[in-house]
Amino acid sequence: MKAHQLTRITGAVKNSLGLVYGINKGAMHAKYPDAISFSKMLVDLNLLVKPRLHIMDGIMAMEGNGPRSGKPKKMNVIIMSDDPVALDATFCRMVDLDPELIPTVNYGESYGLGKWKEEDIEYLGDDIGGFISKDFDIKRGPVKKENIAAASIFRGMVLRKPFIEESKCIRCGVCVEACPVQGKALEFKKGDRSNPPVYDYKKCIRCYCCQEMCPEEAIDVKTPLLGKLFLYR
Ligand code: SF4
Ligand code: SF4
Repeated sequence: MKAHQLTRITGAVKNSLGLVYGINKGAMHAKYPDAISFSKMLVDLNLLVKPRLHIMDGIMAMEGNGPRSGKPKKMNVIIMSDDPVALDATFCRMVDLDPELIPTVNYGESYGLGKWKEEDIEYLGDDIGGFISKDFDIKRGPVKKENIAAASIFRGMVLRKPFIEESKCIRCGVCVEACPVQGKALEFKKGDRSNPPVYDYKKCIRCYCCQEMCPEEAIDVKTPLLGKLFLYR
Protein backbone atom coordinates (compact mmCIF):
# COMPACT_ATOMS: atom_id res chain seq x y z
CA MET A 1 0.00 0.00 0.00
CA LYS A 2 2.13 2.85 -1.30
CA ALA A 3 1.98 6.19 -3.03
CA HIS A 4 3.75 6.24 -6.41
CA GLN A 5 5.18 9.19 -8.29
CA LEU A 6 4.20 7.98 -11.76
CA THR A 7 0.94 6.09 -11.29
CA ARG A 8 -0.25 7.77 -8.01
CA ILE A 9 -0.68 4.42 -6.24
CA THR A 10 1.16 1.15 -6.35
CA GLY A 11 -1.38 -1.51 -5.54
CA ALA A 12 -2.65 -4.83 -6.81
CA VAL A 13 -2.61 -4.01 -10.54
CA LYS A 14 0.87 -2.48 -10.41
CA ASN A 15 2.22 -5.24 -8.20
CA SER A 16 2.05 -7.66 -11.12
CA LEU A 17 4.98 -5.86 -12.74
CA GLY A 18 7.01 -8.00 -10.37
CA LEU A 19 6.23 -10.88 -12.74
CA VAL A 20 8.37 -9.24 -15.41
CA TYR A 21 11.91 -10.41 -14.81
CA GLY A 22 15.23 -8.56 -14.70
CA ILE A 23 15.97 -5.72 -17.06
CA ASN A 24 12.71 -6.34 -18.93
CA LYS A 25 11.07 -4.37 -16.15
CA GLY A 26 13.08 -1.31 -17.12
CA ALA A 27 12.39 -2.00 -20.78
CA MET A 28 8.66 -1.77 -20.02
CA HIS A 29 9.21 1.75 -18.71
CA ALA A 30 11.09 2.66 -21.87
CA LYS A 31 8.41 1.18 -24.11
CA TYR A 32 5.50 2.76 -22.21
CA PRO A 33 7.01 6.05 -21.07
CA ASP A 34 3.93 7.83 -19.75
CA ALA A 35 1.62 7.02 -16.86
CA ILE A 36 -1.36 6.24 -19.10
CA SER A 37 0.28 3.80 -21.52
CA PHE A 38 2.22 2.23 -18.65
CA SER A 39 -1.01 1.67 -16.71
CA LYS A 40 -2.71 0.13 -19.73
CA MET A 41 0.22 -2.27 -20.07
CA LEU A 42 -0.17 -3.23 -16.39
CA VAL A 43 -3.85 -3.98 -16.95
CA ASP A 44 -2.98 -6.11 -20.01
CA LEU A 45 -0.38 -7.96 -17.96
CA ASN A 46 -2.99 -8.81 -15.31
CA LEU A 47 -5.42 -9.98 -17.99
CA LEU A 48 -2.72 -12.23 -19.40
CA VAL A 49 -1.47 -13.75 -16.13
CA LYS A 50 -4.79 -13.70 -14.24
CA PRO A 51 -3.50 -13.80 -10.65
CA ARG A 52 -6.21 -15.42 -8.54
CA LEU A 53 -5.75 -13.60 -5.25
CA HIS A 54 -4.33 -10.20 -4.37
CA ILE A 55 -3.22 -9.35 -0.83
CA MET A 56 -2.29 -5.79 0.11
CA ASP A 57 -0.25 -5.17 3.23
CA GLY A 58 -1.34 -1.81 4.59
CA ILE A 59 -0.42 -2.35 8.23
CA MET A 60 2.38 0.11 7.60
CA ALA A 61 1.74 1.91 4.31
CA MET A 62 3.96 4.44 2.52
CA GLU A 63 2.87 8.00 1.79
CA GLY A 64 4.63 10.88 0.04
CA ASN A 65 7.63 10.16 -2.16
CA GLY A 66 6.82 6.54 -2.98
CA PRO A 67 7.39 3.87 -4.04
CA ARG A 68 10.81 3.90 -2.44
CA SER A 69 11.53 7.07 -0.50
CA GLY A 70 8.21 7.94 1.11
CA LYS A 71 7.30 8.02 4.77
CA PRO A 72 5.77 5.17 6.74
CA LYS A 73 2.10 5.65 7.50
CA LYS A 74 0.23 3.36 9.84
CA MET A 75 -3.02 2.28 8.17
CA ASN A 76 -3.51 -0.95 10.15
CA VAL A 77 -5.24 -2.77 7.33
CA ILE A 78 -4.84 -5.84 5.15
CA ILE A 79 -7.02 -5.93 2.03
CA MET A 80 -7.62 -9.08 0.03
CA SER A 81 -9.57 -9.61 -3.16
CA ASP A 82 -9.72 -11.73 -6.27
CA ASP A 83 -10.41 -8.46 -8.12
CA PRO A 84 -7.30 -6.22 -8.31
CA VAL A 85 -9.32 -3.24 -9.55
CA ALA A 86 -11.76 -3.43 -6.62
CA LEU A 87 -8.84 -3.80 -4.25
CA ASP A 88 -7.05 -0.72 -5.62
CA ALA A 89 -10.29 1.28 -5.64
CA THR A 90 -10.73 0.39 -1.97
CA PHE A 91 -7.18 1.54 -1.26
CA CYS A 92 -8.02 4.83 -3.04
CA ARG A 93 -11.13 5.33 -0.92
CA MET A 94 -9.15 4.73 2.26
CA VAL A 95 -6.76 7.55 1.36
CA ASP A 96 -9.46 9.91 0.08
CA LEU A 97 -8.39 9.59 -3.55
CA ASP A 98 -10.96 9.41 -6.36
CA PRO A 99 -10.47 5.90 -7.87
CA GLU A 100 -11.76 7.04 -11.24
CA LEU A 101 -8.71 9.28 -11.64
CA ILE A 102 -6.27 6.38 -11.34
CA PRO A 103 -5.51 4.87 -14.78
CA THR A 104 -4.87 1.32 -13.50
CA VAL A 105 -8.34 1.44 -11.90
CA ASN A 106 -10.15 3.26 -14.67
CA TYR A 107 -8.69 1.23 -17.55
CA GLY A 108 -8.85 -1.83 -15.31
CA GLU A 109 -12.64 -1.65 -15.45
CA SER A 110 -12.98 -0.58 -19.08
CA TYR A 111 -10.66 -3.43 -20.19
CA GLY A 112 -12.71 -5.97 -18.18
CA LEU A 113 -10.18 -6.71 -15.43
CA GLY A 114 -12.45 -5.77 -12.54
CA LYS A 115 -14.86 -3.29 -10.98
CA TRP A 116 -14.14 -0.01 -9.20
CA LYS A 117 -17.56 1.49 -8.48
CA GLU A 118 -18.63 1.21 -4.87
CA GLU A 119 -22.03 -0.28 -5.73
CA ASP A 120 -20.29 -3.15 -7.57
CA ILE A 121 -18.00 -4.08 -4.67
CA GLU A 122 -19.03 -6.33 -1.81
CA TYR A 123 -17.08 -5.58 1.35
CA LEU A 124 -16.51 -8.30 3.91
CA GLY A 125 -14.80 -7.76 7.24
CA ASP A 126 -14.40 -4.45 9.06
CA ASP A 127 -16.21 -1.33 7.88
CA ILE A 128 -13.82 0.59 5.60
CA GLY A 129 -15.08 3.84 7.14
CA GLY A 130 -12.87 3.08 10.11
CA PHE A 131 -9.72 3.08 7.94
CA ILE A 132 -10.11 6.31 6.00
CA SER A 133 -7.13 8.62 6.28
CA LYS A 134 -7.84 11.99 4.68
CA ASP A 135 -4.37 13.28 5.51
CA PHE A 136 -2.54 10.46 3.68
CA ASP A 137 0.13 12.30 1.71
CA ILE A 138 -0.63 11.48 -1.94
CA LYS A 139 -1.25 13.52 -5.09
CA ARG A 140 -5.02 13.71 -5.57
CA GLY A 141 -5.32 15.43 -8.96
CA PRO A 142 -5.78 13.57 -12.25
CA VAL A 143 -2.82 11.61 -13.63
CA LYS A 144 -1.53 13.55 -16.61
CA LYS A 145 -0.17 12.00 -19.73
CA GLU A 146 3.44 13.03 -19.24
CA ASN A 147 4.34 11.96 -22.74
CA ILE A 148 8.01 12.68 -22.62
CA ALA A 149 8.68 11.88 -26.26
CA ALA A 150 6.06 14.34 -27.44
CA ALA A 151 6.71 16.99 -24.85
CA SER A 152 7.17 20.52 -26.07
CA ILE A 153 10.16 22.80 -25.77
CA PHE A 154 8.70 23.93 -22.45
CA ARG A 155 8.91 20.49 -20.90
CA GLY A 156 11.94 21.34 -18.80
CA MET A 157 9.95 24.17 -17.27
CA VAL A 158 6.80 22.18 -16.51
CA LEU A 159 7.50 18.46 -16.07
CA ARG A 160 8.31 16.92 -12.72
CA LYS A 161 11.78 15.50 -12.54
CA PRO A 162 13.95 13.39 -10.28
CA PHE A 163 16.96 14.98 -8.61
CA ILE A 164 19.74 13.73 -6.37
CA GLU A 165 20.37 15.06 -2.89
CA GLU A 166 24.15 15.26 -3.00
CA SER A 167 24.66 14.87 0.75
CA LYS A 168 22.83 11.51 0.79
CA CYS A 169 24.44 10.05 -2.36
CA ILE A 170 27.17 7.44 -1.81
CA ARG A 171 28.06 7.32 -5.56
CA CYS A 172 27.14 3.61 -5.82
CA GLY A 173 25.81 3.89 -9.37
CA VAL A 174 22.70 1.76 -8.75
CA CYS A 175 20.52 4.49 -10.23
CA VAL A 176 22.60 4.57 -13.42
CA GLU A 177 22.31 0.81 -13.81
CA ALA A 178 18.55 0.99 -13.21
CA CYS A 179 17.90 3.63 -15.87
CA PRO A 180 16.14 1.82 -18.75
CA VAL A 181 16.82 4.47 -21.37
CA GLN A 182 19.25 3.51 -24.10
CA GLY A 183 22.34 5.65 -23.67
CA LYS A 184 21.23 6.41 -20.06
CA ALA A 185 19.42 9.51 -18.83
CA LEU A 186 21.76 9.88 -15.87
CA GLU A 187 25.45 9.13 -15.65
CA PHE A 188 28.59 9.93 -13.76
CA LYS A 189 30.16 12.82 -15.64
CA LYS A 190 33.16 11.43 -17.51
CA GLY A 191 32.98 8.39 -15.24
CA ASP A 192 34.05 10.50 -12.25
CA ARG A 193 32.49 9.09 -9.06
CA SER A 194 33.63 11.91 -6.82
CA ASN A 195 30.32 13.60 -7.64
CA PRO A 196 26.76 12.16 -7.90
CA PRO A 197 25.48 11.10 -11.34
CA VAL A 198 24.09 13.88 -13.51
CA TYR A 199 20.67 13.81 -15.22
CA ASP A 200 20.07 14.45 -18.90
CA TYR A 201 16.44 15.53 -18.63
CA LYS A 202 16.04 15.56 -22.41
CA LYS A 203 16.45 11.80 -22.40
CA CYS A 204 14.65 11.12 -19.11
CA ILE A 205 11.26 9.42 -19.52
CA ARG A 206 10.27 10.02 -15.86
CA CYS A 207 9.88 6.35 -15.02
CA TYR A 208 11.48 6.92 -11.58
CA CYS A 209 13.29 3.57 -11.64
CA CYS A 210 16.38 5.45 -10.39
CA GLN A 211 14.43 6.78 -7.43
CA GLU A 212 12.96 3.36 -6.72
CA MET A 213 16.31 1.59 -6.76
CA CYS A 214 18.48 4.10 -4.87
CA PRO A 215 19.53 2.34 -1.65
CA GLU A 216 20.11 5.64 0.18
CA GLU A 217 16.80 7.34 -0.65
CA ALA A 218 18.90 10.10 -2.14
CA ILE A 219 16.59 10.74 -5.10
CA ASP A 220 13.53 12.95 -4.74
CA VAL A 221 11.16 14.48 -7.27
CA LYS A 222 10.57 18.18 -7.78
CA THR A 223 7.99 20.11 -9.78
CA PRO A 224 8.99 23.36 -11.52
CA LEU A 225 6.83 26.39 -10.71
CA LEU A 226 5.12 26.44 -14.13
CA GLY A 227 4.28 22.77 -13.73
CA LYS A 228 2.71 23.48 -10.34
CA LEU A 229 0.66 26.29 -11.87
CA PHE A 230 -0.53 24.60 -15.07
CA LEU A 231 0.07 20.85 -15.16
CA TYR A 232 -0.18 19.37 -11.68
CA ARG A 233 -2.89 21.44 -10.06
S1 SF4 B 1 21.66 5.10 -6.42
FE1 SF4 B 1 21.43 6.79 -4.97
S2 SF4 B 1 23.25 6.72 -3.71
FE2 SF4 B 1 23.68 5.47 -5.51
S3 SF4 B 1 24.64 6.89 -6.98
FE3 SF4 B 1 22.46 6.94 -7.41
S4 SF4 B 1 21.67 8.64 -6.18
FE4 SF4 B 1 23.69 8.13 -5.37
S1 SF4 C 1 16.88 9.07 -15.13
FE1 SF4 C 1 15.57 8.00 -13.68
S2 SF4 C 1 13.51 8.72 -14.13
FE2 SF4 C 1 14.80 9.30 -15.86
S3 SF4 C 1 14.58 7.62 -17.31
FE3 SF4 C 1 16.38 7.14 -16.09
S4 SF4 C 1 15.60 5.89 -14.40
FE4 SF4 C 1 13.84 6.86 -15.36
